[in-house]
Amino acid sequence: MKDQNNLIRPDGAPDARPSLRLVALDLDGVVYRGGAVLPGVAKALEEILRLRLDLRYVSNNATAHRRTVSDRLAAMGLPAGPDRVLTSAYATARWLRSRLLVGAPVMVVGESGLVEELSESGFEAFHADQAPGGGGPGSLQANPAAVVVGMDRGFTFAALAAAQKAIGEGALFVATNRDATYPVEEGLMPGAGSIVAAVATAAQANPVLIGKPSPVMAQALADLTGIPSQETMFVGDRVSTDIAMGHAAGMVTVLVLTGVTGGNDSRNSLADYVIRDLSELPALLGYLRG
Ligand SMILES: [Mg+2]
Repeated sequence: MKDQNNLIRPDGAPDARPSLRLVALDLDGVVYRGGAVLPGVAKALEEILRLRLDLRYVSNNATAHRRTVSDRLAAMGLPAGPDRVLTSAYATARWLRSRLLVGAPVMVVGESGLVEELSESGFEAFHADQAPGGGGPGSLQANPAAVVVGMDRGFTFAALAAAQKAIGEGALFVATNRDATYPVEEGLMPGAGSIVAAVATAAQANPVLIGKPSPVMAQALADLTGIPSQETMFVGDRVSTDIAMGHAAGMVTVLVLTGVTGGNDSRNSLADYVIRDLSELPALLGYLRG
């Protein structure tokens, strides 16, 4: 194919062109950055739909419910719908459904979108700050079956102590994701991984990881779409999560340089292809579909 300023690297590509049926994209740094839609996004998404490929968004952000993410995409004039959105919060709820009984109490160190996803999946989800009895001596204990930890901008010492106690008493310890940082327009904020690390240290335990790069997320995408990973293209901006997950699952991986990865960092990445922004995606799809 045409080598576009050396950014698309056919040398790293699989020998056989896969039959693509699904294009899944990360959101932050790929589709938008803060409130701004990134260059070429609208046309690229249009092209995916024109080619009759399935289009999904796969985000480690566990703070918002899928409906909220969909509303945000719709407000930006982009293809939306809660069914197109897979977040680590929803993937966590699905994963727990295969392991816990409906109605099981689940303690959350996270935000309202995560509590909502877990509640909708049939769990008695409650924030660690609202642990029954507040942890005082002789008070009623919630005895949660699992402790789910994600991004929580209201994180407190009391929540940390409640999570530590529950995990120490045998609750399953689950992390929505372990992203160390969270990009905002002004720079970087502490990500869910920072909070997970605090809980892991206090509880002296390692969590089950659900979000990218975990294979749990790739499996959730395949289960929800009915499309195997080998027929999936994954477009992401972070090598350690997006590209690592896609590569391990056998997806065609595309690194886009509009987010956390710069041009120089991309040279030794695992990605099959590297593009500057999504305006280069239609040409890549055209090439792969022969
Ligand atoms: Mg991203």
